[in-house]
Amino acid sequence: MTTPQVMRIMALSINTAARAGSIIREVMQRGNLGIVEKEGKDDLQTEADRSAQQCIIASLSRKFPNVKIIGEEGDSNLDVKDEWLISEENEEFLTHKCPEDLREVKEEDFVVWVDPLDGTSEYTQGLLEHVTVLIGVAIKDRAVGGVIYQPYYKQTNGSIGRTIWGLKGLGTGGIEPKTAPKGQMIITTTRSHLTPLVQQALDALSPTEVIKVGGAGFKVLQLLEGKAHAYVFASPGCKRWDTCAPEAVLEAWGGTLTDLAGIHYSYAANVEFKNRMGVLATIPEISHSDIAGKVPKEVLEALRS
Ligand code: AMP
Ligand code: MG
Ligand code: MG
Repeated sequence: MTTPQVMRIMALSINTAARAGSIIREVMQRGNLGIVEKEGKDDLQTEADRSAQQCIIASLSRKFPNVKIIGEEGDSNLDVKDEWLISEENEEFLTHKCPEDLREVKEEDFVVWVDPLDGTSEYTQGLLEHVTVLIGVAIKDRAVGGVIYQPYYKQTNGSIGRTIWGLKGLGTGGIEPKTAPKGQMIITTTRSHLTPLVQQALDALSPTEVIKVGGAGFKVLQLLEGKAHAYVFASPGCKRWDTCAPEAVLEAWGGTLTDLAGIHYSYAANVEFKNRMGVLATIPEISHSDIAGKVPKEVLEALRS
C-alpha cells in the first residue's frame, strides 16, 4: 500500500525542519549574522533566515515538485549544497496511521507555508529560546498539518533542539500538551511589535497576566505547554507563514487559531500573505467565541481600515 502524500510531506518536513534548525545554530556560532532590514527595523532577515529557507524549500520541492511552497524569504536559489538537502522521511512519524479523510489528497492540492526562522528580532538579540522553524501544510485553504522545531530547546537528557508536530485528526507529537491553570486568564503576546491597538485589545480581555515573547511559533507553544490560555495580537503584522503551522498544531490538540473576529484564515496558494485581522489563539478549555466576542468593535474596525 502506498503511503499517503500528507504523511510523506509531514515526515519530510519533520526532518527538514531539524536540519534548518541546525543551520540556524551554525550561523549563530560563526557569529556573522548578515542582518538586512526588509521593510524597516521591524522586519529583519539574517543569513540564518536565508539559508534555512533554502534548505527547506530545496528539500521539499525536490521530493514534491507539484506542491506549491511559499516561504517568507521569497524565491530562493535552490541550487543548494548537498549537506542541506534532506531526502529521508521521518520514520517514527510514518508509523502513525493517516487520518481517513486525508488519505487521498493529491499533491496539487497541498500548499506548504514556510517560516524558516520565526522570531528573527529575538534571534539577533540573543533570546534564542524564542526562535522556531515553522513548516505548515495546508490542503486547499485549510491548515491541516504543522511542524515546529525549536533549535535552542534544552532537553532534559542534555541534547539541544526539539520537534513538535500536529496533524488534524491524528493529534500532536513531540510534546505532551498541558492546560494552563483554571481561574486565570494568562495572555501571551508580542514583545517586539507592541502598538496602542495591540494594548487596547489586551486590556479589553482583562487578563490576570500578560506574557511578552517573540514569534508566533513560540507563543503557540506556550499554549501547548500550559503557560498561557490565549495568544492575542491586534496587528496586521503576522503573515500566513507565521500562523499556518502553529494553527495546525494547536488545532490538532483541540485549540483554535483565527483572526480577531474569530474567522479562520485561508491558506490557499493565491491569498495575500498578511494576516490583516490579527491573531487570536485559544486552548481547548477556553471558549474561543467568547473571547472573540470581547474584542472591541473599534479594534476590529481599525484593523479593517
Ligand atoms: P511577534 O509576536 O512580534 O514576535 O511577531 C510574530 C511574527 O509576526 C514574527 O514573524 C514577526 O516578524 C511578524 N510580525 C509581527 N508584527 C510585525 C510587523 N509590524 N512587521 C513585520 N513583521 C511583524
Ligand atoms: Mg515569523
Ligand atoms: Mg521568519
